[in-house]
Amino acid sequence: MLSDKSNLAECCLCARRAVQELMDFGPQPVCNRYRRRPEGEEYKHPLVLGQCGVCGLLQLLRPVPSQNLVSPYDWIAYNEPEGHLDQLADILSDLPGLMERCVIAAISYKDDSLLRRLKDRGYRYTWRLDARRDLQIEDAGASIEIIQGRIGPASTIRVTHSRGRSDMVISRQVLEHSHRMSEYLAGLKNLLYPGGYVVIEVPDCARAFDSGDAAILWEEHIAYFTPETFQRNLAIAGFKLVRYECFPYPFENSLVAIVQVEEHGEKIWPDKKILARELKRGRNFVRGLADQKKKVGAFLRRYKTGGGKVALFGAGHLACTYINILGLADMIDFIVDDHPKKRGLFMPGSRLPILDSAALLAEKVNLCLLSLSAESEDKVIARHQAFVARGGVFSSINPSSRHAVKM
Ligand SMILES: [Zn+2]
Repeated sequence: MLSDKSNLAECCLCARRAVQELMDFGPQPVCNRYRRRPEGEEYKHPLVLGQCGVCGLLQLLRPVPSQNLVSPYDWIAYNEPEGHLDQLADILSDLPGLMERCVIAAISYKDDSLLRRLKDRGYRYTWRLDARRDLQIEDAGASIEIIQGRIGPASTIRVTHSRGRSDMVISRQVLEHSHRMSEYLAGLKNLLYPGGYVVIEVPDCARAFDSGDAAILWEEHIAYFTPETFQRNLAIAGFKLVRYECFPYPFENSLVAIVQVEEHGEKIWPDKKILARELKRGRNFVRGLADQKKKVGAFLRRYKTGGGKVALFGAGHLACTYINILGLADMIDFIVDDHPKKRGLFMPGSRLPILDSAALLAEKVNLCLLSLSAESEDKVIARHQAFVARGGVFSSINPSSRHAVKM
């Protein structure tokens, strides 16, 4: 049903004017802007989810301008999954033609741990982009949200004037942050010698969309890949797939593609069946959210009867999105986080206070929702057995968790 093109936006990857709006969540805060006080004004920007009717990519429409995503705090760090990196380093070192004398370049701090593993395997010539020197980024607090926008065809040509070209370029968990993906990917190509490899890693969002995980949306992630759209989109962007791996994790798999440039290759668009499946995934996700909002509300109310309190553990972007887009601010009493810098601040949007975990017992909490990684969920539950012994309940907001909220 793509008859009226005027309502369609341009796809951030395939550039076709074919992105249909799925849901407008209204003005939302930026998750890394923790508040020092609950009162006062707050920057907000519409969060709008859409999906390309040509390539199937789920994506944000009219995303927050990247300079507004820079965090006011320099202590914010994001941990990416690393359990698969030894295996990935072995796969890379077995690639045809990748000798120990080859040059391996990388994009961001997220690549350091893989570069270290490649060094351990004998690759001496590794380097990564320096934000200031190579990309002219002066703001020391700037991170992926700014780096993604500075990588394009012209900037990387300039980089090669001082750095030379490389035999391999690694980009872990940045592509999904990119506002102009075709430019970003074209930029990576320019860093390569002919025949060189690009290694791209992105999170797999398929399970989150299929299970109705509302917290998957985040203003910093522009693209939400599934195994199908990831591989297909690299082909559309002029890459030939050399190897593809899906490294399984309990909540979110890591998808890795090793590709080579294939400029004159045929652009392979998804076939009708595959595209229909992807489009259905997007539609079902937004349809399920309204129902989920009602069910979660009813579930939380059960724990609030008789003056009981509800807390949520984990003051990160998962909690921020979950509370704000499901409208749960009035049903949660406070947020728990033992990060010393977060304690005492207030959540963006909901303005809920962030307390340390001693509050679980001190504040007579009945239910504590968890917005954490799978490993952290188990650790937090083990550490707070006194809360459980007193009748306290832990429930994960992630539908794929074995501790998931049972509504
Ligand atoms: Zn597209």
